[in-house]
Amino acid sequence: MITVREAQAILDRAMEPAGEEAASLDDALGRVLARDIVADVDWPPFDTSAMDGYAVRASEARAAGLVLPERPGLVAAGDAFPKPLAAGEAVRVMTGAPLPPGADAVVPVEDARSKDGRVRFDREPDAGAHLRRRAESVARGAVLIPRGTRLNPRGIALAALAGADPLPVRRRPRIALATTGNELVGAGEAIREGQLRDSNGPMLAALCRERGWLVEHRDRVADEMAAVDRMFRAASDGLDALVTTGGVSAGDLDLLPAAAERAGWEILFHRVSVRPGKPIAVARRDGTFWFGLPGNPVSASVCFHLFVRRALERREGAERTGLAVRTAFSTKDIPPAGPRETYRDARLTEEEGMCRAEPLPTAGSHDIAAHARANALIRLPAGSGALPAGSSVTCLLLDR
Ligand code: AMP
Ligand code: MG
Repeated sequence: MITVREAQAILDRAMEPAGEEAASLDDALGRVLARDIVADVDWPPFDTSAMDGYAVRASEARAAGLVLPERPGLVAAGDAFPKPLAAGEAVRVMTGAPLPPGADAVVPVEDARSKDGRVRFDREPDAGAHLRRRAESVARGAVLIPRGTRLNPRGIALAALAGADPLPVRRRPRIALATTGNELVGAGEAIREGQLRDSNGPMLAALCRERGWLVEHRDRVADEMAAVDRMFRAASDGLDALVTTGGVSAGDLDLLPAAAERAGWEILFHRVSVRPGKPIAVARRDGTFWFGLPGNPVSASVCFHLFVRRALERREGAERTGLAVRTAFSTKDIPPAGPRETYRDARLTEEEGMCRAEPLPTAGSHDIAAHARANALIRLPAGSGALPAGSSVTCLLLDR
């Protein structure tokens, strides 16, 4: 059986970034840049005042005993560039105003008193004080945001500054979801003996939508050869992924891997040394990937995060993929992991930079109630022994 790392490496090699499209700046939050955003202007675009005050030459203010003649009028933000500073002159400027060439300091109004065409300063100005030089933050032509970056609100601000609207982003993954099992009924339906509610379908749809991915199609499929064959044949070429749950273990009704092969899918791997989630199957047909997640809800969730999420984030061209990782101290003893890499539900708290992980009691891979309380997974390497409370553990954050 392959390890999680090996399975992820297979996916990394197989997955190509999707094509690019244009997104308006208002639509670009959370999207992944397909090309570098380059500054088409300097920032700041001109020498400018950082305060309401007086533009001066610091040495002249000192030499004149802190009293200078004041140029009539003032320069405000949005005004055209003023004429250069005359020798020994002070010019009233507002925050964001272009500075008169020659000025090397701004004295804040709080430190100045203006009277009869002259201005007196309370303190000696320092050269360079309270002004911003053209291009001190960004030089025109510089790469502001590299491709592969997922845009957050600060990135949106930078893109706007660079005049990048619309922006080149990767196409969003298009996904079909299907939950398989004769026992499943919808959340809003009456439930009969032996049946259970389909929680995987809504969970997977939410996991995809949380990432801005497009759920094009949702289905519940019976454990019948004809239905399963139809599902695999019908998955269209335009999809990036078909994500299913159930039907990949060793039971009599676990029909999916064989049906996928019959429908022309190439199995990339089936079964991974992980707990929960061992039965997972992944296949490819042309540009579409099938992720056959196990039916147990915690297994389905863990496999989504370890494999589907990582692969489709790569499809989005994202530089950073997968869950964020933290090192934390376990608040409780942790039993040995067994022979497979193990993921345990945990509640992670962060206090003054210190992370604590509380391993949550769980009845097993069907215990969605325990999983719903978790905000992190503790990762235990295969074969790791018992860990006493206070041990340092690796945690993967579920909500980021
Ligand atoms: P399977 O992988 O098909 O053998 O499913 C394993 C177990 O997971 C089943 O016995 C169900 O109890 C549960 N299960 C399967 N599919 C779902 C689903 N969509 N929602 C909730 N539980 C499920
Ligand atoms: Mg089943």
